[in-house]
Amino acid sequence: MSIDTLRTILYVASAGVGFLVIYSIIRQKSHLAHYFFFAALCAFFYIFGYASELGARSLSEVRFWLTFEYFGLAFIASFWFLLSWKLWYNHAPRFRMKVLVFVVPTITLFLVASQEYQGLFYRSLNVANVEGHHLVVIEKGLWYWVQNAYLFLMIAFSLFLQFRSWRRKGGSFATDSAWMLLGSLNLVPWILVYQLGLSPHNIDLGPFGIAVATFFIAVAVFRFGALGSEEVLLYSIFASIDEGVVVLDRDGKISEFNAAAQKIFPWLDANSIGKPVSITADAALFSSAQHQNVEKVVELSGARRYYQGKSTQIYEGRLQLGKIYIFRDITQSRLLMRHLRKFANFDVLTGLYNRRRFMEQAEKALACAQKKRTPVSVLMIDVDHFKNVNDQFGHVTGDKVLSAVGRVIRRRSKDVGFAGRYGGEEFVVLLQNTETQRAKEIAEGIRKGIDGIAIDERMIPVKVTVSIGVSCCETGECGPNVDRLLMAADRALYQAKNRGRNRVEG
Ligand code: GH3
Ligand code: MG
Ligand code: MG
Repeated sequence: MSIDTLRTILYVASAGVGFLVIYSIIRQKSHLAHYFFFAALCAFFYIFGYASELGARSLSEVRFWLTFEYFGLAFIASFWFLLSWKLWYNHAPRFRMKVLVFVVPTITLFLVASQEYQGLFYRSLNVANVEGHHLVVIEKGLWYWVQNAYLFLMIAFSLFLQFRSWRRKGGSFATDSAWMLLGSLNLVPWILVYQLGLSPHNIDLGPFGIAVATFFIAVAVFRFGALGSEEVLLYSIFASIDEGVVVLDRDGKISEFNAAAQKIFPWLDANSIGKPVSITADAALFSSAQHQNVEKVVELSGARRYYQGKSTQIYEGRLQLGKIYIFRDITQSRLLMRHLRKFANFDVLTGLYNRRRFMEQAEKALACAQKKRTPVSVLMIDVDHFKNVNDQFGHVTGDKVLSAVGRVIRRRSKDVGFAGRYGGEEFVVLLQNTETQRAKEIAEGIRKGIDGIAIDERMIPVKVTVSIGVSCCETGECGPNVDRLLMAADRALYQAKNRGRNRVEG
């Protein structure tokens, strides 16, 4: 085949590619069309430039067309890579990455355009006369290898992403990924034939390969056109919402999920598509009834997060297509509820029950004792001369004392009953299944325990004692009336105060 014939073929191919460039502007609907436009434009520069280079009559013309050619050749693989990236991830890469992939090509273009003045890309550039044509004879420079290594790397990455995307879509040929993959693979024979020196007149076959590849990719983008713009919009929303979404098909196989779902279910990845959800670690979650809430707790970077999921059936007409599971992060409200519950039931300073909760629990305990006919005792505990502690050491120390007193009371009562902070510096303890004598012993233990508390404030020991009043309902005959028991304990406490404090009465 003569060089003229090959040139004609290349011009026809570049016209075809040029048409695709214009077509991609008109058909902006596909989410890949944007990158395809640039990739095809690069292909056009490359093919048209190369065809014209073959017809150049002088070294300066060769230089001009080479530079023209590199406007396309230098950048094409980068756009190819971006196109493949979007195919796999469904969104464009970050700006930083977009800039990064064009660094090497930009340097290449600069070095080719200024070849007259340096030999970094082509150490030398000459023309040889073959069949009346001026064919380029080059000596490759250092950057030539950098550019080529980069080109192969970009193509390898693209192939990898296209292959994964093709696998994810079920390995069918009626997909955009399949056609892109074919387009990329088609480059291999062209490059091989050229590298083995089998091409006519040793002409570079790259432009022919690129022309064919561009047509394949056009089919991928416009025929199987990935998604239309509305679908892209919906898909972006789906991919970016905070709720984890998992879509199952009619047979319970995973057909879609978004990034948020992957955080909740770390086992979800591209390979999960098409697999039955019943074989996964969370099978039980996905077998819940329609609209029934399910819960999932996840440890995420050391913190516990709570998710609430709900399923909805998807119908098309009367045909059931599958189920969609939506998982909402309810961590905030869960923690808030926990805090509220704590504040509503416990005293913040001592961690004991507050008065309301104590009364509630006490009523239950009394009712239970009445039924079982067991004795119940109550201790009413009051810190002695607590006003003096506050006056002498300040309220902060006063609080420390209360907290320490609370700790002793809790420790000594937790196995036999429960305690609460009744008010200011008064505490109450309810002792289940405990008659007077035993109650007094426990009270004595508490009194002694507190008498021994050592709190030093500015080297001065703070002396803390308590007086305790004990009352008892021997065989559960008091009924559920806590007040009577408390009043009796209060009277005993009054006695303890009158008889000199730091003592137990009852
Ligand atoms: P008595 O031996 O007769 O019980 O004498 P008292 O000083 O302990 O009795 P009084 O009821 O006169 O004083 C109780 C004091 O406890 C008054 C109040 O300022 C103080 N108090 C109440 N609640 C708190 C608290 O949460 N923190 C602190 N630091 N002081 C409190
Ligand atoms: Mg008091
Ligand atoms: Mg007191």
